[in-house]
Amino acid sequence: MSHGSEGGILDEVPPPYPEPAAVPVRECGERLVDLRDVPALRTATPGSVLLRLGVVDRLVTAQTMLPEGLRLLVLGAYRPSPGLRCTGHETGAAADLTLCRADGVELWPGATDPVAAEQRHTLSEALSVVGLSNYPAAWWHWSHGDCSWAYLRGAGHARYGPVRR
Ligand SMILES: [Zn+2]
Repeated sequence: MSHGSEGGILDEVPPPYPEPAAVPVRECGERLVDLRDVPALRTATPGSVLLRLGVVDRLVTAQTMLPEGLRLLVLGAYRPSPGLRCTGHETGAAADLTLCRADGVELWPGATDPVAAEQRHTLSEALSVVGLSNYPAAWWHWSHGDCSWAYLRGAGHARYGPVRR
C-alpha cells in the first residue's frame, strides 16, 4: 500500500447503523473470482484478490464508464470476518476501490481539494450506475448484493452471505 499516513483506513469500523444485520440473506451461491484471472481490473496487491462473479462483472463495466486514462484500482476485497464483525468483505461482495491512471499511478481522492472531490464524484458515478452502493462513512468501500447494499437500496434481502474458506 502506498497511502502513507492514510494507511489503515481499510480496517473499517462496523456500520454505525444496526439495520443491515437484520436484512435476510438468500445466498445465491455465486462463486468467488480471483482478480488475477481478470486482466481488465488492477489490484494493489500481488496475491489472491477474491470477489463474487457478479461484482467483478459490474466493476469491469464501471471501468468502461470512467474518463479516458483512468482505471479502477482494487485495494481490498474478500477477507474472512474476524469474529462477529461484519464489514461486507466476508461476503466477497464488497470492494475497496480507488482510481489510478492508465500508467498505474494511483490517485487518492480522499483529500479535501476540488480535484480529489471531482475524482470521488467520478468514481461514485461509475460505480452507482452499475448497481453498487457506497458505505457512507468510507468513500472507497462499495458493495453489491450484501446486507449493507440491500439495506441502502431497500432490496428486501441480500444475495450474498458470508463465505468461509
Ligand atoms: Zn471496505
